[in-house]
Amino acid sequence: MPMAPSDAARLLLLTHHTRHHAEQLLSEVGAPMRVTSTYRTPRRNREVGGSPTSFHLRRRAVDFAADQWTLEKAARLAWQLRLGAGCTGPEEVLLENLGRAGQHLHVAW
Ligand SMILES: [Zn+2]
Ligand SMILES: [Zn+2]
Repeated sequence: MPMAPSDAARLLLLTHHTRHHAEQLLSEVGAPMRVTSTYRTPRRNREVGGSPTSFHLRRRAVDFAADQWTLEKAARLAWQLRLGAGCTGPEEVLLENLGRAGQHLHVAW
């Protein structure tokens, strides 16, 4: 699934480790999925009502938008996928607003 240029640009704001996880997930899910949020400045995080301890502030969280079936599949994959020996998997996998406007998958690695 080719990645939209804007999605690739957002991924560049992440730590290398988190970016590689996000790229792996986008590749493995096998259905269209967009990157809607990665790094947030403290100001942006406040504007969107993010937690003051959000992984988005530390370049370690990604929000993905897709249809509900795809988001649920991606959440299962996020728990399962590893980058190699020593990778312990995600810190957070959260399906947010599922079935409602703004539904997305939040994953922190
Ligand atoms: Zn890892
Ligand atoms: Zn998030």
